[in-house]
Amino acid sequence: EVTQKSGRAVSTDAASVIAPSFDTPIIGWKGRWANTLRLWSAQPLHGFDLARFNRGEYAAAAEPEALARTISRVLYPDDTTGQGKELRLKQEYFFTAASLRDILRRFEAEGGALADLPKKAAIQLNDTHPAIAGPELVRLLHDERGMALDEAIATARGCLSYTNHTLMPEALERWSEDLMSQLLPRHMQLIERIDEAHAAEMPGRRVTLRENGEVKMGEIAFTMAHKVNGVSALHTDLMKETVFADLHRLHPDRIVNETNGVTPRRWLLSANPRLSRLITETIGEGWVDDLEQLDRLEASISDPGFLDAYAKAKRENKQDFAEWLAAEQGVRVDPEALFDVQIKRIHEYKRQHLNILETVALWREIKANPGAGWVPRVKIFAGKAAPGYVFAKEIIHLINDVAEVLNADPVTSPYLKVLFLPNYNVSLAERLIPAADLSEQISTAGKEASGTGNMKFALNGAPTIGTLDGANVEIRDRVGARNFFLFGMTAQEVEARRAVPDHARQAIQADPRLGGALKAISQGAFSPSDKHRYRGVVANLTGQDYFLVCSDFTAYWDAQRRAEAAFADPAVWHRGAACNTARAGWFSSDRTIRGYMTDIWGTVPLAAE
Ligand SMILES: *Cc1c(COP(=O)(O)O)cnc(C)c1O
Repeated sequence: EVTQKSGRAVSTDAASVIAPSFDTPIIGWKGRWANTLRLWSAQPLHGFDLARFNRGEYAAAAEPEALARTISRVLYPDDTTGQGKELRLKQEYFFTAASLRDILRRFEAEGGALADLPKKAAIQLNDTHPAIAGPELVRLLHDERGMALDEAIATARGCLSYTNHTLMPEALERWSEDLMSQLLPRHMQLIERIDEAHAAEMPGRRVTLRENGEVKMGEIAFTMAHKVNGVSALHTDLMKETVFADLHRLHPDRIVNETNGVTPRRWLLSANPRLSRLITETIGEGWVDDLEQLDRLEASISDPGFLDAYAKAKRENKQDFAEWLAAEQGVRVDPEALFDVQIKRIHEYKRQHLNILETVALWREIKANPGAGWVPRVKIFAGKAAPGYVFAKEIIHLINDVAEVLNADPVTSPYLKVLFLPNYNVSLAERLIPAADLSEQISTAGKEASGTGNMKFALNGAPTIGTLDGANVEIRDRVGARNFFLFGMTAQEVEARRAVPDHARQAIQADPRLGGALKAISQGAFSPSDKHRYRGVVANLTGQDYFLVCSDFTAYWDAQRRAEAAFADPAVWHRGAACNTARAGWFSSDRTIRGYMTDIWGTVPLAAE
């Protein structure tokens, strides 16, 4: 409950927990700097209740402690249930509140004036998960420190900026006003005040922070940030046109683009020592902290000696991976085969099901004509699904079922194998990416904000098969259209196609390979013990098919055949792969961070010694 005490709002019956910090030093390149990664754990204010325990109430004695620790026990708890939603909001508030108090505590220890906070603190909201930081910082400044409300809002906005990571409506968090009012009643009041202040700044052009009984965290983050950024050129443009169109009209200078990057120290130097050695032998070691120097490889791309060495590094990486696979997973693959890799979170918009449909269609084609000179291929999948995402788990199940049937097929398995590797994580990515030949980046155009996997593969010399989505667009612009297997509808074409009634049925009728693959799945070819296992998946694809898997299938099939033909000619292939490495230098996270510094935080680099 919120009450007024000497003119200030205070929460009276709030639950309290302690947030001890856990610090990990993050050592910078060559050990010149170390940053602190500070994590928080939720712990009970009062330990366990000995008096209750002695009365025999064992569970009750332990309960307050267990409830407090639940807040930080699991990151991103499943929020498909009511309890899950409540826990998730508590967790978001807990981490945000602990971080903001810590920032203010350290600022105040140095004795600065509160109005100068924005000069010292740049707080980057990573998606909407910490969006409650806006109202919370206003509360800390206004309620707890007595700053006037308008000044508190302006000061908070001076510190805060917001990175949007997706345009998918379900990922722009909305919390029910009921839940918010119950857990964070003062924040609900402040959200209304922020809304009013914002409306007063922009008379007659009101954007509300609440709608249909829900609080819109994306809009709150936008309103409380001095800069809002997208993570690729396409995503930033779409952000201006779609989710934040109204807010962008009100604040035309607020949205900026910072295309993502990846760190070359992890994703090339450490993950791929063979290629790193070759690069350093060819252009010196400056590329490690100035990745755009990779463009100096351009002169070597037509040098057969260099291309041989480049091909040798890839071949040895593939051999290493094949040995690891045999030892760890008991699976044998031919290192000469095309390693075709799709590793990323499992999501319908990323379209692992497009890939597995093409795999099934290819299998049927090879079976019908085994002597047609097929290029041996290993399809490698890995990725985790969110705990509550049932459809994504069905896709994982389907890939595993298809793998079981195809890998046991004596006619086709010399040409086509399918692997689903469990427990996808950074360590597996570091092992797999240097060994990849082909990078699958096949999301429905307009849905992948940026992607960073696409950059890791390009850097390691695996050309992309992909759509004009996210940073794929910028990768293709840089590596060259010849070195990128483009297919599929553009974001605009996707919108138009979705409006065609029956688009999936039309696409299926037009391509018997697609129809045949869907039929095999629906008839239980890969789930003989449970013939209807994929009824839901097939119904989705033949029905609404929101992510337009069917409508992009034929173009994807054709692009795969182009990739295959290029792979069959090693001279062509390695040249294309080397062009990817030589031209991907712009995708360094060093470039991205410099962008945040100059465009958003207003900071300058400290001179290196
Ligand atoms: C890079 C990376 C991602 C992001 O991959 P996308 O293809 O961009 O979705 C996800 N998980 C891990 C472990 C990664 O290394």
